[in-house]
Amino acid sequence: MKDVVTEGLQDFGFTVEDLISQEHDAALGNGGLGRLASCFLDSMATCQLPAWGYGLRYRYGMFKQQIVDGNQIEHPDYWLDFNPWEFPRPDVTVDVQFYGRVRKNREGKSVWQDGEIIEAVAHDVPIPGYDTRNTNSLRLWSSRASSGEFDFQKFDAGDYENAVADQLTAETISAVLYPNDDLDRGRELRLKQQYLWCAASLSDIIRRFKKSDRPWSDFTDYVVIQLNGTHPALAIVELQRILVDLEELNFNEAWQIVSRTFAYTTHTTLPEVREKWPVPMIKKLLPRHMQLIYEINHNWLERVKKEFPGDLGLLNRVSIIEETDPKTVRTLFIGILGSFKVNGVSELHSEQITQTTFKDFVKILGRGRFTNVTNGITPRRWLHQANPKLSALIASKLGSYDFLKDLYLLQRLKLYTNDSEFKKAWADIKLENKARLANYITDTTGVQVNINALFDVQVKWFDEHKRQQLNIFGVIHRYLKIKAMDPSERSGLVPRVSIFGGKAAPGNWIGKKTIHFINKVATTINKDPDVGDLLKVVFIEDYNVSKAELICPASDLSEHISTAGTEASGTSNMKFALNGGLIIATIDGSNIEVIEEIGEDNTFLFGHLAPDVEDVRRAHAENPGRECPSKNLLSVFNAVLDGMFGDPEPLAAVVNRVIDQDHYIISDDFDSYIAAQDMVDETYRDQDKWIEKSILSVAGMGKFSSDRSVWQYSEEIWNIESVAVKDPKRREYKKSS
Ligand SMILES: *Cc1c(COP(=O)(O)O)cnc(C)c1O
Repeated sequence: MKDVVTEGLQDFGFTVEDLISQEHDAALGNGGLGRLASCFLDSMATCQLPAWGYGLRYRYGMFKQQIVDGNQIEHPDYWLDFNPWEFPRPDVTVDVQFYGRVRKNREGKSVWQDGEIIEAVAHDVPIPGYDTRNTNSLRLWSSRASSGEFDFQKFDAGDYENAVADQLTAETISAVLYPNDDLDRGRELRLKQQYLWCAASLSDIIRRFKKSDRPWSDFTDYVVIQLNGTHPALAIVELQRILVDLEELNFNEAWQIVSRTFAYTTHTTLPEVREKWPVPMIKKLLPRHMQLIYEINHNWLERVKKEFPGDLGLLNRVSIIEETDPKTVRTLFIGILGSFKVNGVSELHSEQITQTTFKDFVKILGRGRFTNVTNGITPRRWLHQANPKLSALIASKLGSYDFLKDLYLLQRLKLYTNDSEFKKAWADIKLENKARLANYITDTTGVQVNINALFDVQVKWFDEHKRQQLNIFGVIHRYLKIKAMDPSERSGLVPRVSIFGGKAAPGNWIGKKTIHFINKVATTINKDPDVGDLLKVVFIEDYNVSKAELICPASDLSEHISTAGTEASGTSNMKFALNGGLIIATIDGSNIEVIEEIGEDNTFLFGHLAPDVEDVRRAHAENPGRECPSKNLLSVFNAVLDGMFGDPEPLAAVVNRVIDQDHYIISDDFDSYIAAQDMVDETYRDQDKWIEKSILSVAGMGKFSSDRSVWQYSEEIWNIESVAVKDPKRREYKKSS
């Protein structure tokens, strides 16, 4: 439709970009995890897999970021004001109960009653597949007071405010998306969100299953539920409740079904269990679930006792209930025990968790319970939509757009690394994409950038382990080097534009300090006449998916520089490489597999390896007053603390963090990082070689299509096959014949 629409809009005096800019990003996600879910939905529809996505319809999604005086300010995002893509389904509602009490009826069955009923209402977002008739649904739930609950008596008596108070309270459940922020742990509203989501979705799944009139013993042949992280782990307990209390199966029979229905993906490398709920809170909000959790845990611990008699330490470590004060429920453990498969999201991550967080569970449940599915991205959005010209150029060489459905076909681009005409076209497209981004930068920040400079990009959430600090310290190092040079020597340098973007969770203090730090450094450097076009630093406000689509095609180099062992996967490395950007990377997460596919020679690697990071940290701890191991980094710190970038006081926190503890081993990786950056400059000087590496980056991306990821889930975990929706024309023909 695109050409037709473009032409039609022109008649009205608009461009297609005008129209597209009216459309708001779905603010439903929290960075990589939400974006991954979106890529999977796109792939499941394209691969014709019969799948649904379930989520909450947050009225205010992820906050909007504004930079004021270099600081991040958060604003609510009214993304639902204009959303033509959702279809309200007032006919699809689920009553969800909270609070109340549990009593035993005459048959000894538990009955959960006297609670407060909240209604979940479905909103469907169609997910059309590429080049198929199949369209799946993303079903999002919003909450409202149950229609039976509205207090008409109060309303009649003129007490309007109190009559609607319940309604407003009910609506707050789906009102706001929590940023991934540890400080939110243990909030009741968040637990309510999770339960509403799980209960409504399960009820929907079961309703669909029951239409078939099959017995419960068939359930696991027809349904599999993939839990995307610990947030929906309550679904496990909820299904057990439905089977035991409502369907009257016995406990063990029910648990057999439950634990063959769910599979669970973990997205974090953190050794500590992230999500914990205080027992008193669950008891109050979901009293029946708390009983069931105790029973599940009791059976589990009995099993462990029998298999590992006398190992009290083990028993404590694997118990769902943690004996803190008050006691807490480890949701992660419910996820592991209630699932038949548990997977990590890159080879390194999946291996690492079996040796750390999940070690005890591997010992008890066996290694076979744990597996790996490496993440991927959808080439439809991240190549074809974001970079239409590159997609067209590739299609012209490969003879068709089939690579958008079978990304391994990109391998054939390796044949053209000496085709000078092709390389020229390839380079021209990159330059055009850079010009497009440069215009955006000038429009939004006022900074003029040279499009022939090397565009060096780091866009992702501000999380200490992703190490934006390392990048900006490297920028300062470059700045000092330029300043120290004789002006006549400077013409030999490769000009750079360092581009940053990303949000910090509101409670992430050091993340916000780092954003401020980058902006202050940018202000000084960008107005320094000694530097001119040789170095510019840009912070792009409010990084989101639309911005990513603009930025990825325009990068020459992108940074994926997390401390080894800290990033579970990462997916933006794949987006940049698929658009012909080279990567500077640590040996971490999915970087390892990306490097394997592209070839080490075509990437810039540096830093300590994951197994060595612990040793480095131990050495820090044993030698608290140690000197900074990098002279280069010391010069950077001195420049900051001497006031080169304005008042050092607000900047000192970012520096002191490294001097005082350096948990992410910035100082130990700094010189290696600088050396890799020098290699980047040297390689960029030879544009022909650079373009060759750029082509080889794209050629190696076959593995990282999210189609490959969802096929792997289908075959190795879900046991489902593709089902093509029939062509309605053929059905008509059959009818008339
Ligand atoms: C891909 C993507 C991410 C994930 O980036 P990582 O570098 O893998 O952390 C985050 N936010 C947006 C908007 C993305 O498109």
